[in-house]
Amino acid sequence: MASRVKLAEMTWYDFADRVTEGDPIVIIPVGSTEQHGPHLPLSTDVILPEEIAMRIAAQLDAIVAPPVSYGYKSQPKTGGGNHFPGTVSLDASTLIATVRDLVNEFARHGIRKIILFDGHMENQWFIVEAIDLALRDQRCEGNRDLQVLKIGYWEYINADTEKVLFPEGLLSWALEHAAVMETSVMLYVRPDLVRADLVPDHPAADFPVYDKYPIDPSRIPSDGVLSPARSASSEKGRAVIEQVVPDIVSSIREAFSS
Ligand code: ZN
Ligand code: MN
Repeated sequence: MASRVKLAEMTWYDFADRVTEGDPIVIIPVGSTEQHGPHLPLSTDVILPEEIAMRIAAQLDAIVAPPVSYGYKSQPKTGGGNHFPGTVSLDASTLIATVRDLVNEFARHGIRKIILFDGHMENQWFIVEAIDLALRDQRCEGNRDLQVLKIGYWEYINADTEKVLFPEGLLSWALEHAAVMETSVMLYVRPDLVRADLVPDHPAADFPVYDKYPIDPSRIPSDGVLSPARSASSEKGRAVIEQVVPDIVSSIREAFSS
């Protein structure tokens, strides 16, 4: 049976029908190809937003577009840095141009509600810039109907779920790279991709307040994991999914209600 959710599995007839029969929301996951320690795959920042987007789309009858699988350059304090083998990144101008093109393309096909669903912290402001430029493009073409949301799923994790994830207290969301949250959600949604025997448990990275370039890899944990991840579990991952999915669904309904 044809998927109502995944654009990549639809025919062009399916897509055309969806646009004519309603006013579907299109969700574009934007991730990265970035090291996530010895225990998680390079596509962690693509898999997580795509899995969450699929669950959200099922409730909103939305369409999940093929993800942007590369992101802005990994930074030491949020992703370990761009120097790790396998971390393959885009220049900011490329990411901005890519996302801008995608927004303009979906608008050209009659989509009026688009969500850029971010899975990689470093992408944030470049997604914002792409949205701004695409909205300008659309206004120039006389299209004032387009509405775009930018969502970072991790920003929805509430205080109760934070307590489940970190009974001893959260150190820093930025330092959560490849740590308890991402490992737990991966254990819940894609356990087949987690090397459970290799989950690291060393102390958190200790960075200076400033950012110095070129970066000094000696300040970065050599395995690329920025906080201890040992307390990760599938149950914690389930707690995240069961809280953020309905919360994101209701906030999308609210945002697109006018
Ligand atoms: Zn990540
Ligand atoms: Mn990342």
